[in-house]
Amino acid sequence: MFSLHGTGIGGGIAVGRAVVLESRLIDVPRYRIDAPGRAAEIARLERAVDTVRAELHSIGEHLPADAPTEAQALLQVHAMILDDPALFEQARTVIAHSGHNAEWAFASQAEQLASQFEQFEDAYLRERGRDVTQVADRVLKALSGSVRPLAERTAHSHDPLIFVAHDIAPADMLQLKRAGGFAIDLGGTASHTAILARSMNVPAVVGLGKAAQIVRDDDWLILDGEAGVVIVAPDDAVLQEYRNRIALEQLERKQLERLVHVPSATLDQVPIELLANIELPAEAAQALDAGAAGVGLFRTEFLFMNRSEMPGEDEQYEAYRDAVLGMKGRPVTIRTIDVGSDKALDASHEGPEPATSTNPALGQRAIRYSLAEPDIFLVQLRAILRAAAHGPVRLLIPMLAHGHEVDQSLRLIAQARGQLIDRGQSEPPPVPVGGMIEVPAAALTAGLFAKRLDFLSIGTNDLIQYTLAIDRADHAVSALYDPFHPAVLQLVAMTIRAAQRAGKPVAVCGEMAGDLDATALLIGMGLRGFSMHPASLLRVKREILKCDAARLKPRVSRLLQSDDPARVQSGLARLREA
Ligand code: PEP
Ligand code: MG
Repeated sequence: MFSLHGTGIGGGIAVGRAVVLESRLIDVPRYRIDAPGRAAEIARLERAVDTVRAELHSIGEHLPADAPTEAQALLQVHAMILDDPALFEQARTVIAHSGHNAEWAFASQAEQLASQFEQFEDAYLRERGRDVTQVADRVLKALSGSVRPLAERTAHSHDPLIFVAHDIAPADMLQLKRAGGFAIDLGGTASHTAILARSMNVPAVVGLGKAAQIVRDDDWLILDGEAGVVIVAPDDAVLQEYRNRIALEQLERKQLERLVHVPSATLDQVPIELLANIELPAEAAQALDAGAAGVGLFRTEFLFMNRSEMPGEDEQYEAYRDAVLGMKGRPVTIRTIDVGSDKALDASHEGPEPATSTNPALGQRAIRYSLAEPDIFLVQLRAILRAAAHGPVRLLIPMLAHGHEVDQSLRLIAQARGQLIDRGQSEPPPVPVGGMIEVPAAALTAGLFAKRLDFLSIGTNDLIQYTLAIDRADHAVSALYDPFHPAVLQLVAMTIRAAQRAGKPVAVCGEMAGDLDATALLIGMGLRGFSMHPASLLRVKREILKCDAARLKPRVSRLLQSDDPARVQSGLARLREA
């Protein structure tokens, strides 16, 4: 038994078996075989290729009924690549003539073939380069003799599965819905990997360093998403202790469920609106179960990921409509696409990419991308406006920094509305338009945005990143990512005040909204709207029920006068105790 330490991103505890998602094509061994041994080396490669062929066949035979229709075709493409003479025959020639080992011979042929595909203009053909890499990865794993296909590795297990990876893209996580937990070597608390793990409601620990190298497939793991610890091969006593804690957590969940229908208000009867953050329309159900008053943030960019073409207007409309219908008359705040930075589009994406940049977090991200690609933006705006026919919709613009971005966005929204009317479609109902305050410049000039827009939403994840100059996805600096830094608190308080002065609603929709250490503080600042992943909602409500807004106000304004982080921390602790 030993433990690995990283950053816990909530979601409780999982006990389960490890499924290690290996990095592909790294550390390919390279050595020479003497002439007499080469026939055996070729035979070894043949066996590996046969194993992969059988594996692909077996996956095809056992595809679940709800597998995407492309899955079978994709398997056939992989089988064809496997049999492509440019791969196997060439690799065999390399072994026979130059005596390189099978792994090296096959990997280098695959690399050449993949790079030929990657030169193509055509997105479909470029994508085939990735298929070559994936097939080569399988063959290398078969050569190492230790790896079974994911479906086979996971099918027998009744225990939760804990996926262990060096890194995992948010888009890939969406495909691991069966995950009981994630243990990831890279990443920080506000990385989108972490956010998605929360929205999938699974415990996760990020920033583990070398878990993917140390943990073996099928190892028993305890993953403590609160403490940020992964215990590998725990002994019986530790396992029992954690099983007890899981039982306690279940008990707490039951107690929290009783709060679903309790009105969300402070002790002194100030109503607090509790909203949910969702990434996919289906999550509306989870939001309703938690008693959310609406969706405060629908991150639409996830509809654009994992695919090579942009979703069209009808497809987007259906997704937004499903979320609206799913919320049964409660408002849904749909944020326009926030791509760029750590939410990249698929490499094979045929639509325009955000312009490449030496520093993507400061590059063409979010509204900057939408305004640079107005045709794509208009498609999304029309889809959102059409969805508004099915229930209350609010439109939210991410990452504003300049007043002219608001003007341009409002003009394009009016244009999209006009296009629908010109097409003969019924005129969409009025849709309030809000802006995200997540750049210090926007917080410092929040009055400008409050005046021109219908509401504000504070994206603390990015506001912290840009205020403290800490890449939110970089584990190396994650200890410095401090939501309670006085500078951050000043900017949040300033934004709330500006919205109040303009008489406009304001909410926080970053991770800070779900942080129990911030609830009393934010209420004391005057915040009345919180939007968070549904899993946190009832715990925050329990906290709100204990707050006295009138008493918190003067105490928080005293706390905000300090620019000493240590004093702010001790002041915060006292706020929570009171
Ligand atoms: C934020 O920045 O706080 C936010 C809610 O947006 P995202 O996490 O999607 O960048
Ligand atoms: Mg953001």
